[in-house]
Amino acid sequence: MQHPRQTIPIFLIFLFRTENSATLIRMTLPVTGKNVRVDLLHPTFKARLEALLNNEPEIAERARILSGVRSFADQKYFWDGYQNKIKGKAGYGHFNLAANPHRKFGGGLFQGSWHMQQPFDNYGHAVDIRLYGGLKWKTFVPIAKEYGVLQTVFSPQYEAWHYQWRNSKGIFQAPAMVGEKSEAKSVKKAKVDLKGVAAAIAQLGEQVARRPLRKGSRNSAVKVVQERLAAKGYKCGFPDGVWGRKTDKAVRAYQRANGLVIDGVVGKNTWARLLK
Ligand SMILES: [Zn+2]
Repeated sequence: MQHPRQTIPIFLIFLFRTENSATLIRMTLPVTGKNVRVDLLHPTFKARLEALLNNEPEIAERARILSGVRSFADQKYFWDGYQNKIKGKAGYGHFNLAANPHRKFGGGLFQGSWHMQQPFDNYGHAVDIRLYGGLKWKTFVPIAKEYGVLQTVFSPQYEAWHYQWRNSKGIFQAPAMVGEKSEAKSVKKAKVDLKGVAAAIAQLGEQVARRPLRKGSRNSAVKVVQERLAAKGYKCGFPDGVWGRKTDKAVRAYQRANGLVIDGVVGKNTWARLLK
């Protein structure tokens, strides 16, 4: 099955949009670790969380985001891994959190997982939260509700930690955010500069043709390589733009499987194939 917006791969759009986004730089949402992605959260949800987790006196310093948004590519990677695990293929150990990225749920608008980047607007709309310093859910829940940050998962298992700012029916009321500039933009869809993205990808391609990527390379082209490999099922760890041992192994495996020269170097040919 094809992802509906596959013309330009969705994760590439994100890669460039988030790098260019001023709001991302401003964001300092408290998270439990570096792999918790909050860059794909809807901006209005992000603003609500920022107000709640950073500025609300009762909550600040006592709550962190434990689980953020997974890109479509990541979700697909986990799902493919989970399928292979079922089939008993070797090399897939821990893919328990997998949900089919194409599965529709929650009234039909949402797809894959609550924690996945959604095709309808390119954003993620859920976080899991962990409390600290003796803060209790019974204190947190009513305060979060004031900010339009609500619990949404009650079955099959009640998830006290899972929060959203909207569901399939619409956006939750946020009395504490009334008058905030961020709220006015809440229903607008993510605007993606497709021409800009295509141009940026072309520019990276030229850069790669001139100076091929290899072990030790560290830049946004490497990040694209890592995202592409992951989307194609080649495990290379968190896409951090740093070409280490795992990336090297994945590139060579990809080259071997695709009849390319197995040199562990991404130049013009391997790049072109990866971007297909
Ligand atoms: Zn959750």
